Amino acid sequence: MLRFADLLEASTERMAELESVAMGQPVSVAKKAIAGGLSVWRYYAGWAGKIRGDSFMPTEADGSYKLVQYEPLGVCAGICAWNGSHGLAAWKLAPALAAGNTYVLKPSEKSPLALLEYGRLFAEAGFPPGVVNIVPGAGPTGSAIASHMDIAKVAFTGSAAVGRAVMEAAAASNLKTVTLELGGKSPALVFADADLANAVQHTSAGFLRNSGQVCFASSRVLVHESVADEYVRGVKAAFEAARLQMAHSLRPETVYGPVADRKQFERIMGFLDHAKAEGTQVLAGGGRLGDQGTFVEPTVFLNPDLGSRVYREEIFGPVLSINTFRDEDEAVRLANDTSYGLGSSVYTSDLGRALRVADKMDAGTVGINGVFITSAQTPFGGFKQSGTGKESGEEGLRAYLRAKTIHINMHPLSSAKQ
Ligand code: NAD
Repeated sequence: MLRFADLLEASTERMAELESVAMGQPVSVAKKAIAGGLSVWRYYAGWAGKIRGDSFMPTEADGSYKLVQYEPLGVCAGICAWNGSHGLAAWKLAPALAAGNTYVLKPSEKSPLALLEYGRLFAEAGFPPGVVNIVPGAGPTGSAIASHMDIAKVAFTGSAAVGRAVMEAAAASNLKTVTLELGGKSPALVFADADLANAVQHTSAGFLRNSGQVCFASSRVLVHESVADEYVRGVKAAFEAARLQMAHSLRPETVYGPVADRKQFERIMGFLDHAKAEGTQVLAGGGRLGDQGTFVEPTVFLNPDLGSRVYREEIFGPVLSINTFRDEDEAVRLANDTSYGLGSSVYTSDLGRALRVADKMDAGTVGINGVFITSAQTPFGGFKQSGTGKESGEEGLRAYLRAKTIHINMHPLSSAKQ
């Protein structure tokens, strides 16, 4: 695994370009994603020789011992979304391999190139044939994996609708274990005592990375009414600045690029047109940038209706909404009023408030005074309809192991007779 990580690191430039060509992610952004993936590979490589069981002293009345050993599950599989192949592949493959499983990985049909190239690196790193199998394909391939009788676990990253289908297929076939990493409509809460420049930076530049196509991106800002005007001015300026910086993804300096493909572009345009037709106030952007490619203007809607599609549904693009709140209780209530529960963030200079609100967030991740940053050591995953199970960290490893408890009878009848 360490050799694979070294080979991947040495191929960073090419791997970033392959991802960029496939789904428009700027090369500079893809390089950061590869660096994040490398830390995951190296973290789990360290685990490979450290997976241990437990033994229990004879506490039972009959004096028996108990051993608990952790075993690999067997053949596991991963089905990926298209928006961050390097990170998603690392979260799936690395813990599974460290735990001793073999793997079938299905890249998204929108971004298969870099992961297909991984296959060559696995061979070069010395993985025996058949340990890692990269199987490209679209929905039917994913569906075949989810219902396969010989696959012990499937880790799925994608939309809630397809996640549901994967769980159903698993239930209808061999009851395989399922991990679901799904979508979100994550809130950012900006309190009156927040460092507003910092909040603006993270909810604009931080939000717009990968054109807002990040599952836990805080796409729904809730700001205290007393600082709303100043905050809104800052976000407007930041989104307009980002618009001017949008450029071709293969240019090394590009940070903001197009959205993934025509289908994704048209989906986002549908949300923009619907919101504008409903009369929602547009603070910035609101349309297509230029007449070539799939560039969407970084867009902000002000005070959308709390029942509107733009406020409630995952857009998965560079589209932010801003609403106000009066007090902490209302902020928490609005934040949690969603079927999703993946990300959230809190901006305040009061640490007591930050931790109190973090405690109340019905979401798997909370960023305090900044966008949430994933790390190899900590679990990642959503609550509610954002998913089930965890990837990353020790929990991500445990998800690829099964516990077996062994009972040792210390007083077999034969020895009692002697
Ligand atoms: P999607 O659900 O359309 O597709 C995801 C994957 O499922 C693809 O590989 C696709 O080929 C496959 N698939 C399609 N139909 C299938 C079926 N019936 N059975 C099995 N597999 C099937 O999602 P997408 O458009 O690729 O990705 C965007 C979504 O992914 C967003 O909702 C985003 O929030 C989510 N996402 C979540 C995380 C996370 O960690 N929680 C990370 C990245 C993306």
